[in-house]
Amino acid sequence: MRNAAPKDEQGNFICPSCGNTIDGDGLPEHNPPIVETWNTTGYNTSQEQRIDLFNETAVAIHCKRCQSIQGRALSRTTNYRKDTGPNYTPRKPRGR
Ligand SMILES: [Zn+2]
Repeated sequence: MRNAAPKDEQGNFICPSCGNTIDGDGLPEHNPPIVETWNTTGYNTSQEQRIDLFNETAVAIHCKRCQSIQGRALSRTTNYRKDTGPNYTPRKPRGR
């Protein structure tokens, strides 16, 4: 994560939107949004590079409730390009 997400004294992440402690069920917020990273870069990278991009663009952890309120504009299914570029490699099969 590029910026240290806020934590309480016990080391639990704190949601920057509502200030509540997140009990291991938070969702990362990305800047730029993941859909933008995918459409400009991720569609044409290896799985390893995409994981790096995901981690590098994460700026905060939000609780699920706040994400569901705020996240509608960042729908996970709309606006993602469907094609992949020549450098794209699929996710490796699990367990190998
Ligand atoms: Zn919250």
